[in-house]
Amino acid sequence: MRLSAPRGTRDIKDREVLVFRELEAAALDAFRRWGYEELRTPIFESRELFRRAVGETTDIVEKEMFDFTDRGDRELSLRPEGTAGVVRAYLEHSWDKTGGIRKLFYMGPMFRAERPQAGRYREFWQIGAESFGNPSPQEDADTIMLAAHILKWAGLEWKDLCFHVNSLGCQECRPKYRIALASYLENRRATLCENCRARIERNPLRALDCKIDGPTMTDAPAPVGSLCQACKAHFDEVKFYLNRPELGFVFQESPRLVRGLDYYTRTVFEITTEGLGAQNAIGAGGRYDGLVKQMGGPEVPAIGFALGMDRVASLLKPREGNRILRVFFAFTGRSSNGAKATVWANVLRDKDRGEKRLGRPVAAILGDGGASLKSQMRKADGWGADVVVICGDEEGDKKKMRLKDMKTGAENDVDYSRDGDDDVWIDSLKILAST
Ligand code: ATP
Ligand code: MG
Repeated sequence: MRLSAPRGTRDIKDREVLVFRELEAAALDAFRRWGYEELRTPIFESRELFRRAVGETTDIVEKEMFDFTDRGDRELSLRPEGTAGVVRAYLEHSWDKTGGIRKLFYMGPMFRAERPQAGRYREFWQIGAESFGNPSPQEDADTIMLAAHILKWAGLEWKDLCFHVNSLGCQECRPKYRIALASYLENRRATLCENCRARIERNPLRALDCKIDGPTMTDAPAPVGSLCQACKAHFDEVKFYLNRPELGFVFQESPRLVRGLDYYTRTVFEITTEGLGAQNAIGAGGRYDGLVKQMGGPEVPAIGFALGMDRVASLLKPREGNRILRVFFAFTGRSSNGAKATVWANVLRDKDRGEKRLGRPVAAILGDGGASLKSQMRKADGWGADVVVICGDEEGDKKKMRLKDMKTGAENDVDYSRDGDDDVWIDSLKILAST
C-alpha cells in the first residue's frame, strides 16, 4: 500500500514551489531594504510559550495546537504561529538590552489542527516580520508598507488587494470597549453560535472574528468608539501617513476588524483579496506593545505581521523570465562518449553561472549510456527536456554533437572543432533557448 501525506498537509512541488521561491525572494529583497534580519526559531517550542503568548482562550491554543510530550515528559507543541518564538528569542538573547530597536523576519511552516479546506491546511507557510522598539505611528505605517511591498514585488497589484486597518486601543481603553461589546452580545445571546455565547464572558472581542456570527454583527459597537485620547491620536497619525499620495497606497478603515490573538494593541490590519473565496485573508498583523512584558521582559513596543504563503502563492504565476532551460545529455557507450557528456554538462553549468549566461537559467542532467538512444529520448521527454544534446556513435570521435529541440523536433549538428570549442556549442544552445 502506498502512503499519503497526513491530512491537511501536502508536498509543495512543481509550479507552487517555484512561486514559493519567487515570493521568498521578493520578501528577502524587501526585508533587507526595511532593515530586517532573519531569525530561524525551532519548529516546536514548549506548550507553555504559546499558552502565555498567544492566549489561553484563543482558538489556536484551545483547539488548534499539535501538542506532544517528548521522552523526557516535556510538554511541547508544533508552532502554530511565529511571534511567540521570536519574542522568546528576543528575550533569551537579551536583545532588549542592546539599544532597543531590532527587526526580525522569518519564513517557514506553521501547524494548526484545523479542518482542511481550499486554502486552509494543517501545515501552512508564513512569512513574518516583527519590529521591536519603536512605538511611533510612523512605524505602524511603515510596517504596513513593508507587507504591501512584499506582495507587490512578488507580483500582486495593490488594486487587487484590500488593506483593512483598525485600532483596538490599549490596556486603558480596551476594558471599556470590552464591556460595551459584551453587553451588545448579551442582548443577542439567543442568536449567537455556541462558541460566541461562551466568548461573551471569556473574550468578547473574539466574537467579531467568528466565521459564523462575525459577518452578522454590522451594528456592534466598534473599538474606535472607546479609544482613549492617546490611542485615537496614534490611529489618526497612522492613517495620515498611509494616506500620503506619494505612496500611491489605498487602504480601508474597517472598524470591526479584530485579530484572533490576544496580544494585539492599537493598530491591527488584515489584507484580503477577492480571488480566493472563503479563505480570502492573505496576511494580517498589528501592534503588540504589551507582549514582551507579558512574557517576562521589560516594556518594549512591537509590531509585526504574517503573510500566508500558501494563499499568496495561489494568486501568483511563475515568471516567464525564470523559465528554466532543461538540457538532457544523451550518449551511447559509457566511456569516451560518456566522458564527453559528463564534461559538457559540467561546462554548461559553470558557464551558466558566469559570463556566458544563456539568457535563461539552465538545468542539465545526464542520460544512461547503457540504454539505447531511443530509450534515453523517452526519458528526456518524460523529464520535460527542452533540448537534448546527443553524443552517439556518429558524433563519437569527431568534434561534433547533435542538438535536438524537443519542442519542434528539429535536429542540427554542431561542429565545434574550431577554437574556443565550448563557446561554439553553447552559442547554439543559446539560440535554442531564446526561441
Ligand atoms: P483565518 O481567519 O483565515 O483563520 P487567521 O486569522 O487564523 O486566518 P493569522 O493567525 O493572522 O490567520 O495568520 C496570518 C495569515 O496566515 C492568514 O492571513 C492566512 O493567510 C494564513 N493562514 C492562517 N491559517 C492558515 C491555514 N490553516 N492554512 C493556510 N493559511 C493560513
Ligand atoms: Mg484561523
